[in-house]
Amino acid sequence: MDRIKNRKPILYLVIPCYNEEAVLPVTKDLFLGELELLVNKGKIHEDSRILYVDDGSRDRTWEMICQMADEETRILGIRQSRNRGHQNALLAGLMEAKYHCDITISMDCDGQDDVEAAEKMVDAWAQGNEVVYGVRSSREVDTFFKRITAQGFYRFLSLMGAEVVYNHADYRLMSSRCLKEMADYQEVNLFLRGLVPLVGFPSTTVEYARKERMAGTTHYPLKKMIALAMDGITSLSIRPLRLITGLGFILAVFSLLGVIWAFVEAVRGNTVDGWASTMCVVCLMSGIQLLCLGVIGEYVGKIYMETKRRPRYIICDKTPGFPERGQ
Ligand code: UDP
Ligand code: MG
Repeated sequence: MDRIKNRKPILYLVIPCYNEEAVLPVTKDLFLGELELLVNKGKIHEDSRILYVDDGSRDRTWEMICQMADEETRILGIRQSRNRGHQNALLAGLMEAKYHCDITISMDCDGQDDVEAAEKMVDAWAQGNEVVYGVRSSREVDTFFKRITAQGFYRFLSLMGAEVVYNHADYRLMSSRCLKEMADYQEVNLFLRGLVPLVGFPSTTVEYARKERMAGTTHYPLKKMIALAMDGITSLSIRPLRLITGLGFILAVFSLLGVIWAFVEAVRGNTVDGWASTMCVVCLMSGIQLLCLGVIGEYVGKIYMETKRRPRYIICDKTPGFPERGQ
C-alpha cells in the first residue's frame, strides 16, 4: 500500500525546547531544510510545519521561537505555562499537532536526532505503519559513562517488566490516528516511549546515528535518568511488587526453618547468648523491609498523583497566526 500516492501527508515536526537559546538558531535551518527536501521530493504536503514547544524556559527561547515564526510561516510555536519536563512538553506538542496534521515526528531540538532519518520514517509510514521508532545504530559519540548508564537503563527496564524498544528514545513518527487513540491514555506519570507500544497499530523501526549536541548542555544528568527509569518502571509494570512478594515468600520459608532450628537447639540445651547473630538478622530484615516499603510507597505515590487527575500540560501561548484546529 502506498499512501503517499493517494494524498501527501501533512507532517508536523514536534520539537520540545527548554532553555535552548544557544541551539535554536543552529538547528533551525537543519529542520527547515529537511522539510523542504521532503516537500520537493513529493513525500509530504507543503502545509507541513515545524512545531516548537517551549517548556517554560527561563531564557530567551520563547522570544526566539516567536521571532522565527514571524520570519518563517513554516514555523509554529506553543508555550507551556511552566516547566513540566520533556515528556509533558512533548505530549503537549503532539496533542496539539494531531488536530492539524496526518503525521508527526518528535525529536530533540539539539540536532542529536539525525533529521535525515525523517525521510525513512515517512517512507515507512507510506508502507502502512502508524508508528515508526527511531533506533540508535551506535553510541560512539556518547561518553563511556553515558553509554554504560544508558545501556543499564534499558536492561533494568526490561528486567523490571517495562517493555520499551531497545535504544529508542523519543525520536519517532506517529500518525494522528494513533495520537487520537493515545489521547485516551490519561495517565499523569508519563513515559511516552513505554506508552506508545501499548497503543498498538502496525509499527517498525528505522536506524539512525545519534549525533553530538550542537550547542548548549544536556538536561538529562544521571539523577534525571534514574528518575525517568523509575517513572518508566512504575508506570508500566508492577513487577517490582511481584518481586517483593517473591522475596517475602523466600524469607518466610527461611524464617520458618530458622524457628525450627532455634526450637530444636533450645530443647537440646545448646543455646548461647547469640547477640551477634540476632543483630545481623534484625539489621538485614529491617533493611529489606524498608526497601520493600519504599518500593510500595513509590506505587502509592503514583496512585496519589493519578487520583488528582491534574492537567498534564497547560498551553499558555501560541505564536501569532497559529492555525485553527481541524478534525
Ligand atoms: N527538554 C524539555 N524540558 C525539560 C528538559 C528537556 O523540553 O525539562 C527538551 C530539551 O530542550 C531537548 C529534549 O527535551 O529538546 C531532550 O533534552 P536533552 O537534549 O537535554 O537530553 P539528552 O538528549 O541529553 O538526553
Ligand atoms: Mg539531546
